[in-house]
Amino acid sequence: MLALLPSGNAASNPEPMDGYSPAHAATERDWETKFRNLPDPGVMRDSMQHLSARPHNVGSPYDKANAEWMLAKFKEFGFDVHIETFEVLFPTPKERRVELLAPTQFVAKLQEPPLGVDPTSQQTEEQLPTYNAYSVDGDVTGPLVYVNYGMRDDYEQLERLGVSVKGAIVIARYGGGWRGIKPKVAAEHGALGCIIYSDPKDDGYFEGQDYPTGPFRPQEGVQRGSVMDTQYPGDPLTPGVGATKDAKRIALTEAQTITKIPVLPISYGDAQPLLAAITGPTAPEKWRGGLPITYRVGPGPAKVRLVVKSNWDLKTIYDVIARIPGSENADQWVLRGNHHDAWVNGAEDPISGMAVVLEEARALGELLKQGWQPKRTIIYCAWDGEEPGLLGSTEWVEQHQDELRQHAVMYLNTDSNARGYLNIGGSHTLEHAANQVEREIQDPEKHITVWKRAYLRKVARAESAEDREELRSRADLRIGALGDGSDYTAFLDFAGVAALDMGFGGESNGGVYHSIYDDFYWYTHFGDTKFVYERALAQMAGSTIMRFADADLLPFDPSGSADTVKRYVAELKKELKKKQDEVHERNRQVEEGVFTATADPEKQYVPPAKEAVPPYLNFAPLENGAEAYARAAQRYHQAVVRLNENAAAWQSPALKEINAMLLLTERTFTINQGLKERPWFKHQIYAPGAYTGYGAKTIPAVREAMEENKWQDADQGAVVVGEVLMKEASLVDSIAQQLEQAVGQPPAPQTAQQSPTPISTQKPPSGK
Ligand SMILES: [Zn+2]
Repeated sequence: MLALLPSGNAASNPEPMDGYSPAHAATERDWETKFRNLPDPGVMRDSMQHLSARPHNVGSPYDKANAEWMLAKFKEFGFDVHIETFEVLFPTPKERRVELLAPTQFVAKLQEPPLGVDPTSQQTEEQLPTYNAYSVDGDVTGPLVYVNYGMRDDYEQLERLGVSVKGAIVIARYGGGWRGIKPKVAAEHGALGCIIYSDPKDDGYFEGQDYPTGPFRPQEGVQRGSVMDTQYPGDPLTPGVGATKDAKRIALTEAQTITKIPVLPISYGDAQPLLAAITGPTAPEKWRGGLPITYRVGPGPAKVRLVVKSNWDLKTIYDVIARIPGSENADQWVLRGNHHDAWVNGAEDPISGMAVVLEEARALGELLKQGWQPKRTIIYCAWDGEEPGLLGSTEWVEQHQDELRQHAVMYLNTDSNARGYLNIGGSHTLEHAANQVEREIQDPEKHITVWKRAYLRKVARAESAEDREELRSRADLRIGALGDGSDYTAFLDFAGVAALDMGFGGESNGGVYHSIYDDFYWYTHFGDTKFVYERALAQMAGSTIMRFADADLLPFDPSGSADTVKRYVAELKKELKKKQDEVHERNRQVEEGVFTATADPEKQYVPPAKEAVPPYLNFAPLENGAEAYARAAQRYHQAVVRLNENAAAWQSPALKEINAMLLLTERTFTINQGLKERPWFKHQIYAPGAYTGYGAKTIPAVREAMEENKWQDADQGAVVVGEVLMKEASLVDSIAQQLEQAVGQPPAPQTAQQSPTPISTQKPPSGK
């Protein structure tokens, strides 16, 4: 909350436990202490060995076997458990070919070799071939062009070099943004096909010793992965509804999320002959990778044929859903999940996270035997089909959307876990609660709390005096906004359920991601080899779940959220100013004739034209909304402070109603019609970027419109989000009022409803 504690003392002098009466805080602390002693590295190691023993992609026998094994485990731990199935579109490769036709001939291997020391790498019969799921079928031939990471700014650079990809096949390296953006942007520029390869500079020998001597990607290692487009996640044939057996399905040709051009991933072993055959301009310095060749852009004389054909079958996916019924508020659900499907054996991705979830469940089961009863219902989930496109979680959320909107308190997600520092992203209403738990978890190697370790890292990386000052003065570490890297997406962006995503990392990097080498041998040699960060994650995530399940007053913190929203609004204003300045500068250069060079002297020089300067936007609705929200949050915060001073008030029956209202605070950020161009995405504060994928775009209705120079949309977006913030302010204000009455405090003067003084009434001085 807003109280400014000196950060360094936070651990030794804990503030009151948010959401707990003094008596219940003591009991809760006892149970959480018992819980944290239970996670056992040896058990998690065994779970990992079992779950990653064979390839377990969607549709494989071992995927189903794993779901059944986990069902039995949850049952043994005392959960009420079932498997819920969906029928989803999951393409698997039928034909794959990458062939250099000129100036020399070469056929790519498209095969990862088994390694003698690594037993599961030898299960070649069961391994899913290297491919990018949801690539459209195609057989294309064209000149090859190297496009660096293949993101939008790379094409701007190509244009400056005078290179077009129209009618060409592009080769992009992995990195720089989500892989699905690469074929999307390539198609938008007229390319016929897209090849993605892993450059050794990004996760291979340039970074460190390659596998199996070290953890990095070997010569023939390939990153599989989904390239499903971002209009909506989940089954392409059932947007917005659960993909049950008799769900209404759209035709494959209508599915918007299949790529427009064929795409295939390859290793750097296969990429090198292709790249070496390209001539044309030398690639800009930042584009050059780690291969012993001169990186050139092309086109010509390299000519390539790319063939991709898939079996477009429906496959059954198996979500494991396990409950502990709540003893007092059974209709309030605290949810926890991780996916269980992998591209191949997937020891790190996802079993390092899945083993943690199971271990938490085992520990909670032990507490149940000792007499602990959570107030609220706890639901543990093992999702199937995350890798192809968040299938299991999205279909489940779509299927249960009405119940979730009514009952869900929060959702906590994990995925891969490794050694290092704790990274948390999520809803900012949960920031404070996450910080409180984080201050109590010990780093297994550094003898400080994981909070302190994350704090020290942020201090070391702070770029400005402003950042450093904030770290000194702000009690809580900021958490990042969520994009769409894992199974929290449908909860947060579609159903408006407050979500957290967390995991350790940053020290045991490697290059086996989505390859046959992400397996038990790799993880036990190069990952969290002692499983101690696995234990720390179980302690952290499990304690957070208990904290929300047992609370007298749900520990949502509108203050942290309002503070963050205000920052986002300020960022947007800055961003607009920057765009305007940049255009002014380019126009000045055009006027002065600064642009004279062209990469190809034979091409006729066309001088660039002056651009339209971005207009002024009216940020007033956003600023007023953010301001009203902050005032309401402050009022609520004051009421909570009073509650903490008045032990008797914790008995008030009004808390039940207040909790029911708090449950709706995240839902209020969503609107039914969603984002203008992506209506599936309902949240107005967070969304994954249409051109970043993993990366979040905050206040997307305004930010993305600005980035696309859609000024009218940006203006309208500001009005829509402003209204959402006003609604949020009004809800928080009435919660504060209820709480004030419960603590026997005269209600403060109305804040949110009264029409606020406009902060800014900027109007465009001229038209567009
Ligand atoms: Zn994963």
